[in-house]
Amino acid sequence: MKLTLRANAKLNLMLDILSALPNGYHDLFMVMQSVSLHDLVTLEQNDSGAITVTCSDPAVPQGEGNLAHKAARVFFEETGLPFTGLSIAIEKHIPQAAGLAGGSADAAAVLVGLNRLCGAHLSDRDLIRLGSMLGSDVPFCALGGLMLAQHTGTVLSYLPPLPLGKLVIVTPDCTVSTGAAYKAFDTAERVRHLDKAGMFRSIMEADLDGVFRRIDNVFEQFIDVPERVVIKGVLRRHCAECACMSGSGPSVFGIFESEDDAEEAARALRRNFKSVFVCDCADRGVEIVDHQ
Ligand code: ATP
Repeated sequence: MKLTLRANAKLNLMLDILSALPNGYHDLFMVMQSVSLHDLVTLEQNDSGAITVTCSDPAVPQGEGNLAHKAARVFFEETGLPFTGLSIAIEKHIPQAAGLAGGSADAAAVLVGLNRLCGAHLSDRDLIRLGSMLGSDVPFCALGGLMLAQHTGTVLSYLPPLPLGKLVIVTPDCTVSTGAAYKAFDTAERVRHLDKAGMFRSIMEADLDGVFRRIDNVFEQFIDVPERVVIKGVLRRHCAECACMSGSGPSVFGIFESEDDAEEAARALRRNFKSVFVCDCADRGVEIVDHQ
């Protein structure tokens, strides 16, 4: 049997770090939104006795180094279901190491897809448990929509969906190491924490202006992405309601009330940047597109 899934990217509408934990992880407060920018992940059961992973982007690890491979291994180990063989093919559209959770989205698609293919009946809670064995964004990607993610990303609460508008995402041509970003937080002399209570209240009251005013990412205080100023300038000149970095960067997004403004902003940004996407919010992290 064969299953193709859309593995949606994520944006952080708010990312604050409360503290470093003794185990080296961090206590986080993240408002996360799935978006329609996606990879396509195709799973096919076979009799090879092995897991194979291929990816359309040669810069992404193939085989065992791919997080999708690990997700399949964890799924069969944890469920104890019989394994005959599996091929995973990833059509990559989400830029990698960009703060958009591309690898996590692929891993989440494998968990959700195998749950369906194998009839495992894993609950959301089970998916969160398996996802947290793979990476801090995987539990969110397996569920998705608009969610509050706390602790190390494993304590998830659904939030009511918001009609945010059109999204423009720009990924400048540089990579940021997530580990280095957290180290910068750990050694920072001063941190300006974000208005988390205000953000939560604005979301619950569907106060879009309040949400837009509070969209922020604590990593912007420590991570220097020179292009960020230019990108934000272009987004704001085209009437973006807000402009912010996602994850540990370097991707920057703007939210637009008007689709025309979003398209105009994207056109202007494409003069200087290769990876510019216009997309929408998605109400799930993983969506099944084809089942044969
Ligand atoms: P996050 O926002 O969750 O921190 P990210 O968007 O910054 O993640 P990813 O795209 O997930 O970063 O890639 C991080 C690293 O994971 C890459 O450098 C890549 O080598 C590795 N990787 C493993 N599997 C994948 C995959 N399926 N897609 C992309 N990267 C992968």
